[in-house]
Amino acid sequence: MKRTENPLGSICIVGGGTAGWMAASLLSNILHGSNTKITLIESADIATIGVGEATVPSFMAFLKDARLDTKEFMQATAGSIKLGIRFENWYQQNHHFLHPFGKIGRAIDGHEFYQIWLKTLADGNTTRWVDHSPSGIMSEENRFITEMQLAKTPLASYGYAVHLDAAYAARHMREITLARGVQRIESTVESVQTDERKFIQSVQLANGQTIESDFFIDCTGFKGLLISETLKVGYDDWSNYLPCNRAVAVQTENAGDPLAYTIASARAAGWSWKIPLQHRTGNGYVFASDYCSDDEAINTLMSVIKGDLINEPRIIPFVSGMREKIWYKNCLALGLASGFIEPLESTAIHLVYRTLVHFIRNFPDKHFASFLEQQFNCDIARDYMEIRDFVILHYCTTQRGDTAFWRWCQTMEIPESLREKINQFRHRGQLQHHPENLFGADSWYSILEGMNIRPETYHPLVDALDSQKLGQSLKQGANAIRATVMKLPSHGEFLRQHCPAKQS
Ligand code: FAD
Repeated sequence: MKRTENPLGSICIVGGGTAGWMAASLLSNILHGSNTKITLIESADIATIGVGEATVPSFMAFLKDARLDTKEFMQATAGSIKLGIRFENWYQQNHHFLHPFGKIGRAIDGHEFYQIWLKTLADGNTTRWVDHSPSGIMSEENRFITEMQLAKTPLASYGYAVHLDAAYAARHMREITLARGVQRIESTVESVQTDERKFIQSVQLANGQTIESDFFIDCTGFKGLLISETLKVGYDDWSNYLPCNRAVAVQTENAGDPLAYTIASARAAGWSWKIPLQHRTGNGYVFASDYCSDDEAINTLMSVIKGDLINEPRIIPFVSGMREKIWYKNCLALGLASGFIEPLESTAIHLVYRTLVHFIRNFPDKHFASFLEQQFNCDIARDYMEIRDFVILHYCTTQRGDTAFWRWCQTMEIPESLREKINQFRHRGQLQHHPENLFGADSWYSILEGMNIRPETYHPLVDALDSQKLGQSLKQGANAIRATVMKLPSHGEFLRQHCPAKQS
């Protein structure tokens, strides 16, 4: 076997937000020992977006892959635990449900737990779907402990992610990657030079430097300086499915210990978030400008937040969608430059990680074989569309008719892929999944159950199981989860003991 003859000699990351520093962290670990030089350019004059503080469980895998110590990361980012999302007022006003992380229930004799649970409901069982979720009950009780201590308990299948301070996270990853040899240049890219093949050759900086590189990663945020402004790669706009296109964000002082979950409360023309960190709370209202002005949105947010304001409310416009090609020629778009699905399920940082995972799998050499780019673009598009459909599910299943926005949602157009999935589910609760999907069947069941949608019947083979025994077993299982959760420390105690914030 011969060695690769033309490995990439250099990668230039443009942009030092969450995406830029995640790329530097992961690549500096993966490329450790190679001769590929990594440079990151960030501008002191162009601010990062400053939001994006809730993650999903894959973020824990990112930390591992990037060789970032979880405890140190939590301390450096004043992080808190996220066991799921509590959805308030989505199905109807004054109704709430949880989308917990981790696995829910346990298969019996090869039968999926959801099917078993449906059968027991038909036989008079009254346990809730969430009663079988370790993360769900830990959320309800706001308790937590690390995985090592839970391995052999009824909570073993729990899952969690973190809430983080985005500015602290970028700073922490910067410190670590600089120590690993990543070169950082603080300057603004003023122009981008391409060759006759439309490959990027170099970027010209305000400080007079010209940076040449074999490969470029565009982490410049929504504008996509390289992928869009230079290479003219178009954007698939999904506003017809996801009409929220603005957010107002503000930070407040904490009022009490942080909760171990994100709150997403449906409002007149969108929804508001509450993300608790150790040192403050992030709040925001994501809304559709066709149904709500900026002033109305600010007033709505101000009327629901608690705690003293730390900064002034800020409006952030966005368009849900994705680049037609996220990898084009010798440029990879990452983070907001690559696309954005509104933040209801906190998936943007996950998509940064997935983009990097697919890129590493298809890592090019200087020949830039086109099938690598094609395979990559196909894989990442599947990830985007799966998440798009999952987020739309929360809107199109609402029963709220109290405002024009929610009435629109009830009759909205939905993608064929989602329509098929819902139809399949309605029949007898079965869902088809790609094994690499972010949201597994349990997540879909949690939202469907939360939105009060159940299938007409359950899988016929589940009837082979003994109803009485099943009912007892489910009740015992749910009791064991709650009893074990009640022995855990509170989330606040856990943070204070295990990973108190290093920043103030
Ligand atoms: P940015 O943060 O915008 O960084 C861009 C960088 O590029 C900056 O460093 C800037 O200085 C640099 N730059 C720009 N132009 C130049 C230039 N010419 N020369 C040099 N440097 C340049 N994600 C989640 O996972 N969870 C959430 O809960 C979540 N909530 C969100 C809520 C809202 C309302 C929005 C809009 C987004 C949210 N996101 C969330 C997404 C998340 O904020 C982003 O995915 C993440 O912050 C990555 O941003 P970025 O690094 O791509 O861009």
